[in-house]
Amino acid sequence: MDHMDGLAVSDCPYCPALVDSRSQVVNGGGPEDADLVFVGEAPGAQEDEQGEPFVGRSGSLLDETLRDVGLARADVRITNCVRCRPPENRDPTAEELDNCRGYLEHELEQVDPEVVVTLGKVPSEHLLGRDVAVTNEAGAVEPAELGGKRRRVLICVHPAATFYDRSQESTFEATIEKAAELAGAVDGGQAGLDDF
Ligand code: SF4
Repeated sequence: MDHMDGLAVSDCPYCPALVDSRSQVVNGGGPEDADLVFVGEAPGAQEDEQGEPFVGRSGSLLDETLRDVGLARADVRITNCVRCRPPENRDPTAEELDNCRGYLEHELEQVDPEVVVTLGKVPSEHLLGRDVAVTNEAGAVEPAELGGKRRRVLICVHPAATFYDRSQESTFEATIEKAAELAGAVDGGQAGLDDF
């Protein structure tokens, strides 16, 4: 944790290829006591440029869908498995995922969310430690040991999947709706999390 101050990492040298390809480290954003944490794969070009996770088209769709179910981006925390943009948006390697895991674990421990939502295949497999067929399994909730305790992980398709396959739209929306229900947002407030 020598490059982490609070929940923010800076000047991290552990992944040489990503150190070369990043403009900056992209840390998680949102409340440090959020009940819902969304975990993506890695920053893309716009995230790398702006220093924030899930901006651009995917971020807009996530924001819009959150609004539709009664949540605002300001209500949730959004972070990534790796905090530096991989070259040409390739998937992070197993070693890079491992290198960054400690930061994510620390973030989850400190934020202590009730529900962790994995956006896409890479974060789903990384956090659950098994192969995940995201399209088939989206909406499923599974326990996993994360950030020092057993937590509920809600599998979700990546918002960008809906751009290439319109049939994924309803899956994405239904999963975000489920996230909001788990957070109690539909009934106002987040007390429902304790009842899950
Ligand atoms: S991806 Fe994570 S571990 Fe790798 S250099 Fe960036 S901050 Fe460090």
